[in-house]
Amino acid sequence: MLPEFRNEPFTNFSLPENQAAFRAALTIVKAQLGRTYPLVINGQRIELDKVSESINPARPKEVIGYFAEGDVKSVDQAVAAAAEAFKTWQYVPAEERARYLLRAAAEIRRRKHEFSAVMVLEVGKSWFEADADTAEAIDFLEYYARQMMRIADSSNQLTSYPPEHLALQYIPLGVGAVIPPWNFPCAIPAGLVAAAIVAGNTVVFKPASQSMLCGYIVAEAFWDAGLPPGVLNFVTGPGEVLGARMVEHPKTRFIGFTGSKEVGIEIFNKASVVQPGQIWLKRTILEMGGKDAVLVDETANLEAAAQGIVSGAFGFQGQKCSAGSRAIIVNDVYDHVAGRIVELAKELSIGPTDETNEMDMGPVVDKDAMRKIMDYIEIGTQEGQLLLGGQRLETPEGGYFIPPTIFGDVPGDARIAQEEIFGPVLTLIRARDFDDALAIANSTEYGLTGSLFSQNGARLEQARREFHVGNLYLNRKSTGALVGVHPFGGFNMSGTDSKTGGPDYLLLYTQAKSIAEKL
Ligand code: NAD
Repeated sequence: MLPEFRNEPFTNFSLPENQAAFRAALTIVKAQLGRTYPLVINGQRIELDKVSESINPARPKEVIGYFAEGDVKSVDQAVAAAAEAFKTWQYVPAEERARYLLRAAAEIRRRKHEFSAVMVLEVGKSWFEADADTAEAIDFLEYYARQMMRIADSSNQLTSYPPEHLALQYIPLGVGAVIPPWNFPCAIPAGLVAAAIVAGNTVVFKPASQSMLCGYIVAEAFWDAGLPPGVLNFVTGPGEVLGARMVEHPKTRFIGFTGSKEVGIEIFNKASVVQPGQIWLKRTILEMGGKDAVLVDETANLEAAAQGIVSGAFGFQGQKCSAGSRAIIVNDVYDHVAGRIVELAKELSIGPTDETNEMDMGPVVDKDAMRKIMDYIEIGTQEGQLLLGGQRLETPEGGYFIPPTIFGDVPGDARIAQEEIFGPVLTLIRARDFDDALAIANSTEYGLTGSLFSQNGARLEQARREFHVGNLYLNRKSTGALVGVHPFGGFNMSGTDSKTGGPDYLLLYTQAKSIAEKL
């Protein structure tokens, strides 16, 4: 019998022994930087002459690793291996499949700080953010293992009909393409892969090119857990080439994607085209971007609101789909709250995150991200009033640092109030009153997370009804969803509302077979 699911606790970095353990993990990971990593197809390591680099965004000259640069042929090989492995994996009992996840979770837990250290170096997470990402990866494995055992045979939910003997079984779909982003580089791949394989599917997994080492160590945890060859295949290379082929391949049965709206839409369109030889309609599980709003009314605890806004906007440099990138504040308290937000944001420390647990913010993920964010800052100077930041932070090693940037009095329909910037840029919007604030909040094409700070019960009820987001938070920040606690996924252009870490999620990776035998 399995113990009940419990969220993995976060590490308390105020304790010197935990700091020492984390530093030791950083030393281990740093000693291994610059290695070359293969594709792994059907359990075979495939080295290629052509490789691409993953780099440290705090010190772009530091190479994290060299990764085989696969192509369309590599994808075809991986899909073929996954299709072959599916012939047997689909019949492995759910309990056995779940045990592979539990073993992988145990391995990640044992090497927890190493996983986090890789994220600190490869994508610039702070220690706290990296630790939370690792904890979430463990949570997904533990949670989906239990959920699969619960749903595999749902026959007891049927209405009896003697003399027929009835069964309702959730069986797998087939070969899945797993295409995650770089911003939760361990948790999201771990969750997508775990859900797919515990449901009995086999997988071709391509990590984002900014976080290939994170992707590799997640895959390794599954392989080390004893997963049969071909169940989880790992390919690296340009997303627009490999990802596109994974989506279009006629033997791909479903796509588990998390990433931008633009790529999500492209995948949705491509997956809808039935290829020659394809005998099913592909299922798409697409989690996309956000332009999440935090509302503050005149009854709110204003200090809690300001703190929640700053932490939700600038945690991991604002590179979270759940980041509260719009603060919509009613006129009566706007000046006070805006002033406090700026004061709190000024206190955030920024720099390389590998030296101390006290660095609040690291670099943004790469040069392209930096350019895009700086372009939006330029647009922002036309659309609002720059209250803080706005300039790159130059470092001797050329890291991609952008300090917290805040624009005030931005109209609700401005570009920086409507488009996802995915960086440390916060837009403050002045609303006439609560109704106006709610209308502004609902005025984007997205619908992922949203927060309301208010002490007015009727408004909290109104927000429950009318604030159109997949994850609504009342009197707390917009980030920090926990597996099993806050099932996560958004509406409209934020995706297909496949609630990760929720009780229904695994059904998306299955099809139901209803069986009746007349006895
Ligand atoms: P992205 O869309 O650029 O890339 C995501 C993945 O798609 C990567 O693995 C990439 O290589 C691959 N890809 C790129 N082009 C492709 C193509 N043509 N066909 C198939 N695959 C392709 O996103 P990103 O920059 O890695 O991640 C940031 C985005 O992810 C943000 O928009 C953020 O809001 C979103 N996100 C959403 C959630 C959620 O749960 N809704 C969670 C995390 C991140």
